[in-house]
Amino acid sequence: MNNTKIGWIGLGKMGIPMSRQLIKAGFPVTVFNRSKNKEKDLKEAGAEIASTPAELIQQTDVIIMMVSDDQAIRDIFSGDKGLLRAGTHGKIIINMSTVSPAISKEFAGLCKNQENDYLDAPVSGSVKQAEEGQLVIMVGGDDEIFQKVKAVLEKLGKLAIRVGDSGAGNSAKLAVNTLLGFHAQGLAEAVIFANKNGISTEDLMTVINNSAIGNVFGKIKGEAIINDNYQAAFALKHIAKDLRLAKAEGLDTPLGETVYKTFQQAESGFGEEDIIAVIKQLK
Ligand code: NAP
Repeated sequence: MNNTKIGWIGLGKMGIPMSRQLIKAGFPVTVFNRSKNKEKDLKEAGAEIASTPAELIQQTDVIIMMVSDDQAIRDIFSGDKGLLRAGTHGKIIINMSTVSPAISKEFAGLCKNQENDYLDAPVSGSVKQAEEGQLVIMVGGDDEIFQKVKAVLEKLGKLAIRVGDSGAGNSAKLAVNTLLGFHAQGLAEAVIFANKNGISTEDLMTVINNSAIGNVFGKIKGEAIINDNYQAAFALKHIAKDLRLAKAEGLDTPLGETVYKTFQQAESGFGEEDIIAVIKQLK
């Protein structure tokens, strides 16, 4: 499997460490990114560069993308020099971006028409887990195709689990990120309430981190609040997008409505900062 030629599309915060992980594992990797300045580091790490998605799919067997949103997926597949313009067949395309189930179903169908296969395989975990190959990967698509690429996915994550047919990985991811939105807003509100009553954030986080409700998210984001460091690991604009997607898929529960509204409001002021910058909006 290590001689499977990997094509990697998208060198953002997640795409860079994830593609590096596959180079480290010994796969031949060719990368494409829309803005050209980001490809240099990967070249130094041993990757080949493709100038368009069409060129990349011609040169590789398994194509993985990690890009922002539905529009990016549409551009990469259907743009002038997009994947579908190359006329290739027998390729496996894995979309690891957090996008709508609808776009996965649409492009799974278009891939099939050209005798290529498509899996949606979004991830839970952020930059640190990407750097350590410890992501959790939820997959939608044919089990037979999943089994063919499971060894590749297992270089990126500690768990790769198939949860259903095309789009199911995206649906699972939207459920996970809805809970992430609850966690972020919940932590921010607990800090605001504690501060209002004279409890320092440091003391509150020490108590939470040692209690039954302590978790990795709280540890990392509590530190970010204490250090007033809102540099994005997971940009707030992405959770705002994910909650829009979840709402479109039927999220209408009381907390769901609330976090949806909070993050839509926060996006214009704090979209480029980290998800936990929601505390600034709530203050
Ligand atoms: P990011 O740093 O904003 O990078 C986005 C990538 O998508 C860049 O390579 C960008 O290219 C590319 N892109 C955007 N629009 C495009 C278009 N129209 N055509 C072609 N390429 C386009 O995002 P990220 O944090 O790596 O996240 C990537 C995906 O993973 C998102 O769906 C996000 O929700 C999800 N995710 C992120 C995290 C996290 O902690 N960051 C965790 C789990 C899942 P340019 O360089 O040219 O802009």
